[in-house]
Amino acid sequence: MDEYVSNRKLRWKMMPQRKKIIEHWNQYRDLLGNTKYGDLKLDDSCFACGDILRLERIHIEDFAVTKDDSLNNLNVLCARCHVESEHYTREGYFNWIRYKRMDEYLDGEDHYYKRLEMSGLLSWASSLNDEEASKWTPETGFEKFFDVKIKRNENRNQT
Ligand SMILES: [Zn+2]
Repeated sequence: MDEYVSNRKLRWKMMPQRKKIIEHWNQYRDLLGNTKYGDLKLDDSCFACGDILRLERIHIEDFAVTKDDSLNNLNVLCARCHVESEHYTREGYFNWIRYKRMDEYLDGEDHYYKRLEMSGLLSWASSLNDEEASKWTPETGFEKFFDVKIKRNENRNQT
């Protein structure tokens, strides 16, 4: 393994865990702004859009420039928002995230339906009768089942 790769892996391990980042930013929520549901406590979901899938620790200011792995420079975003956020400097980032939270934030259930819709499976899901639908709850793996399908679709669309 070359030095660069092993250093990167080590750094990734040393970086604060998601839980720590969430705890930290719960104290500075005013910087992130209210969601359209009001001032929600941060939990293990994307700070910008509220999604709970494919969460990543992200640098507010580019690590390559700042070499800053401190809590002050880290946020939790989903992969999709991470890509979007990369256009911004620190000030721009906070403007962007305040806009996202106010305009595009969804709670867990809304995300769930949005993903169903995007996957093209919403019409199938809504064709289920109550008894069939009750078998597919998040507890029994409904969400997991769709996540797999949706991820496949997303991967296909990316290539
Ligand atoms: Zn997001």
